[in-house]
Amino acid sequence: MKNIIIFGAPGSGKGTYSDVIVARYGMGHISTGDVLRNEIKNDTELGKIAKGYIDNGQLIPDELMIGILAKTYDSLPAGKGVIFDGFPRTIAQAEALKQMLAERKHDMGIMLELVVDEQTLLERLLNRAKEQGRADDNEETIKKRFEVYHKQTEPLAVWFEKEGIRNTFTWNGSKDAMLNEIFSFLDAQK
Ligand code: AMP
Repeated sequence: MKNIIIFGAPGSGKGTYSDVIVARYGMGHISTGDVLRNEIKNDTELGKIAKGYIDNGQLIPDELMIGILAKTYDSLPAGKGVIFDGFPRTIAQAEALKQMLAERKHDMGIMLELVVDEQTLLERLLNRAKEQGRADDNEETIKKRFEVYHKQTEPLAVWFEKEGIRNTFTWNGSKDAMLNEIFSFLDAQK
C-alpha cells in the first residue's frame, strides 16, 4: 500500500480507522500520540517535556516532533507503506514530512480526511475518557485541543488539497458505512 496520512479533529477516529487499515493492508503505523504517551509512561526526558504540552491540550514543538517522526519512520520495515496518524498537525510538520520522504525517494501517498461534527466529537472524547482514562480527555483540555485543531491543524487540509492528495470522508452516523467507503477507496489505490 502507498503511504497514508490520516487527518482529522481529536475524536474523529484516526486511531480506530488506522488499526483496521493496518490489519487489512499489512502496513506500518505511526501514531505520534501513542509514541508520546509511551515516552511519558517510561518517564523519559522526552516524556517529561511532552507531558506538559499534552496535559494542556497544546502541540509539542515542531522541531521535536519532526525528529521523533523521522526516527520512528526509519525504524519500520521499508516498502510496505506507513499510515501517519496524528502527524502532520502544522504546515511546518507537513513540509518536513514531504522533505523527509523525498530524501528517502518515497512520497506522501494518500491523505484521508475524516470530517465529523463537533457535538459527536465531544461525545466520543468524553466516552473515551470513561473507557480509557486518557489524561487529556477532560472537557477543559478537549476544548483547548479543538481550538488548537482549528487554528493550527485544520488549515493543513488546504495544503493537502494543493498537493493533490486530499480525500474527504464525512461521518454520516454509521461506522460500517464509513469503513466501506474508505476500504473501497483504498482498494482502488493499491
Ligand atoms: P493524539 O493521540 O494524536 O490525539 O495526540 C495527543 C496529544 O499528543 C496532542 O494533543 C498533542 O499534545 C500531542 N501530539 C501528538 N501528535 C502531535 C504532533 N504531530 N505535533 C504536536 N503534538 C502532537
